[in-house]
Amino acid sequence: MYQIGHFIDGESVNTGESSSQIYNPSIGEVAGQVLLAGEKELELALEAASKAFPAWRNTEPVKRARIMSKFKELVELHSATIIELIGKEHGKISHDAKGEIARGIENIEYACYVPELLKGEYSKNAGPSIDTWTELQPLGVVAGITPFNFPAMVPLWMYPMAIACGNTFILKPSEKNPSAALFIAQLLSEAGLPKGVLNVINGDQYAVESLLKDDRVKAVSFVGSTPIAKSIYQQANANGKRCQALGGAKNHAIVMPDADIENASNALLGAAFGSSGERCMAISVAVTVGDECAEQLVSSLLKKIPQLKVGSFEHDSNDFGPVISAAHLQKVEQLIQSAADDGASLLIDGRNTPVNGPSSGYYVGGTLIDHVSADMLSYQEEIFGPVLLVLRCQSLEQAMQVIAAHPYGNGTCIFTRDGEAARYFSDHVEVGMVGINVPLPVPVASHSFGGWKQSLFGDLNAYGPDAVRFYTRKKTITQRWPSSSLRESAQFAFPS
Ligand code: NAD
Repeated sequence: MYQIGHFIDGESVNTGESSSQIYNPSIGEVAGQVLLAGEKELELALEAASKAFPAWRNTEPVKRARIMSKFKELVELHSATIIELIGKEHGKISHDAKGEIARGIENIEYACYVPELLKGEYSKNAGPSIDTWTELQPLGVVAGITPFNFPAMVPLWMYPMAIACGNTFILKPSEKNPSAALFIAQLLSEAGLPKGVLNVINGDQYAVESLLKDDRVKAVSFVGSTPIAKSIYQQANANGKRCQALGGAKNHAIVMPDADIENASNALLGAAFGSSGERCMAISVAVTVGDECAEQLVSSLLKKIPQLKVGSFEHDSNDFGPVISAAHLQKVEQLIQSAADDGASLLIDGRNTPVNGPSSGYYVGGTLIDHVSADMLSYQEEIFGPVLLVLRCQSLEQAMQVIAAHPYGNGTCIFTRDGEAARYFSDHVEVGMVGINVPLPVPVASHSFGGWKQSLFGDLNAYGPDAVRFYTRKKTITQRWPSSSLRESAQFAFPS
């Protein structure tokens, strides 16, 4: 049993108003305890971040970038430890945790370009002897609230760029698996980040709401489920803060009759069941076009799904591990049951799946449910488990109408050999991130990440170029240096 505290002003702080248990989902046992911040710890973090801001905003961007570069090296050097921490508290198999870290590192690398990204705009002789330039200035103290499913990567979507832009940061990771985020934040301190620039507060709703109310916090980045994202966006707006709040998803893959079905079914296996389906970009609905396509896809999946290996994070040969908690396991199982009760065909039931290793964890195996319709609860809800639904359509138009009618719009993809259909799909589908024969179209770090509709509240996406826009505000300066030849009389009209 271990205890996790906070990281404030460059120091570990091991106090809290209360605590909550951290589970090892692979064995279903309590692994540790996380201290939850009360008023005292929050005040320490807010004070530290506010105090560090004036000097940090004036630190040359190139020096900030060098710290990020060193940070990247340290994250690489300690990746085995991070993989272990993610595995223990999330259950992610090491090959998958490694990928998560790699995508996080990409965002640190992108933050190293900050001297280039912050150059702003300049116009010489915008008027007679007048020069004008636009600066990108940091906001001040920024808060980030992150979910359990990417305990290393999602925090790295946020604070490397926020900090590289000159802000100071308070991170509130998921209380379900806080260790990886805390460990990584300490590496940034080791890389030379001044005290107080990055603070990690562990906590629950109280901590989040306190950050949302405090005037010292100028902006909030949130990633998590839709009801919380929406509420955070509303509270932040009501309190005059800039906010981007990324929410949940229900991602559809259209399988066209001309697709390479074996390739599509392999892609769907990884996209639906990888990380136990606990990815906001997981494909959870296969939308087939035409009866033959549906039959071929289902028959291919029926052969492959029983071969998937489910088990503890400790065995790299497993394809995926447990879901995060007993409560979440119960929710996934209830949604599987509801699909069966609603008349869908439960072709492969992952409940009571054979587990590779100890079975006391929160396991559910790959589940395949055919003949799902849009009125079923299992279709409407984000299941966030290894469950693939098949919804049968007869045309691309009909399939796209199904997607358009769903409240979420995070990611989607199409499997086809028809360029015209793919182009029509990507042009018109009501979703923010689109794959063409790419099942998980997660943008690379030099593009931004964001869904549409109930999957994102706010105007700017996460990471990439939008992160520079989100974590800075523009100031435009117009300058003239009067001289005897330039001195003017009073002007009462705009110059023409
Ligand atoms: P969650 O919404 O339960 O929690 C996210 C964060 O919000 C945590 O830090 C949590 O402590 C905090 N929180 C929880 N309840 C709160 C409340 N009432 N008030 C204030 N803060 C609260 O989400 P989760 O279960 O940790 O993560 C899974 C969800 O995140 C899924 O819905 C998934 O789709 C979504 N997600 C979205 C993206 C994306 O980019 N769109 C990425 C990853 C995960």
